[in-house]
Amino acid sequence: MEIVLSGIRPTGNLHLGNYFGAVQSFVQLQHDYKCFFFIADWHSLTTHPKPENIRRSVKTILAEYLACGIDPEKATIYVQSDVPEVLELYLYINMNAYLGELQRVTSFKDKARQQPDNINAGLLTYPSLMAADILIHKANYVPVGKDQEQNMEMARRFARRFNMMYGTEYFIEPASFHLSEKAVKVPGLDGSGKMGKSEGNAIYLADDEQTIKKKVMKAVSDSGPTEPDSPKPEPIANLFSMLEIVSAKSTYDYFNEKYNRCEIRYGDLKKQLAEDINKFCSPIRERIIEISSDEAYLNRVARAGAEKASESAAATIREVRSIIGFGA
Ligand code: AMP
Repeated sequence: MEIVLSGIRPTGNLHLGNYFGAVQSFVQLQHDYKCFFFIADWHSLTTHPKPENIRRSVKTILAEYLACGIDPEKATIYVQSDVPEVLELYLYINMNAYLGELQRVTSFKDKARQQPDNINAGLLTYPSLMAADILIHKANYVPVGKDQEQNMEMARRFARRFNMMYGTEYFIEPASFHLSEKAVKVPGLDGSGKMGKSEGNAIYLADDEQTIKKKVMKAVSDSGPTEPDSPKPEPIANLFSMLEIVSAKSTYDYFNEKYNRCEIRYGDLKKQLAEDINKFCSPIRERIIEISSDEAYLNRVARAGAEKASESAAATIREVRSIIGFGA
């Protein structure tokens, strides 16, 4: 079975954009591939987070992925720092990673600009750690967005370089996996662009009914069309895209017709939208609450994931050590 691997940033709660853009596809992928999902807590150290924040966000993100339907019996879900073999491979990769090529990576240059007082070596060698994450399990595919494409190219380059250096075909070159057409762009409800944590416009899966309602009722709209069948300005198109994602087709058609006849009342649309978002989120929210409160279960899942991931990682490290010339 082919292997899919994806890193998960431990940055707080999942929002609807994360769910429909990525997590939903992961839940599907676990049926057809051998999946490794890891919470990238080592990667997060490049920004020097506080220990209590790491602890809290790792636990939160694990609970939320499980609540969304990642099945720890099917997929291997683990915390990166529970599998120290990754660091050994990171070291080997770093021995053949060159300053010039690392400095040329766009995401490094962006980060260096964003945090000029903290341009640490972890930031520079981020592509080496990402390559180690991937190569340690010999992953065939890595679901990534466009912003990670250059890091994927680096991972392939490091795999090729290792193979060339030792005259072997040991590592396969991992391919980027573009999530199916099912992955949709979830718009923000603040008039333009997409939903995102840093955009400050996110509706979180864990939001309660009142919070969802408040966020949706605040959505940007306008005074309505004055001509039948007018094109929709972006804020209105975004409201309709959201309806398309969470509501029944008949609901979408109903409001679309109202819009085309210039009879739309955005208050009604938003009320319905808030209701439908809540209908979608509430079972996930209940599972988040249930799973988050069961510390023993979370620990069990993390331990089992770490064991499975370590088994795969240890096998790779044994072989890599022998190729490099360590041991007997
Ligand atoms: P982030 O939380 O920004 O690191 O996003 C993690 C992943 O969630 C991204 O790589 C996307 O696949 C997905 N994602 C985030 N926001 C959206 C959105 N508004 N629409 C669709 N997908 C999204």
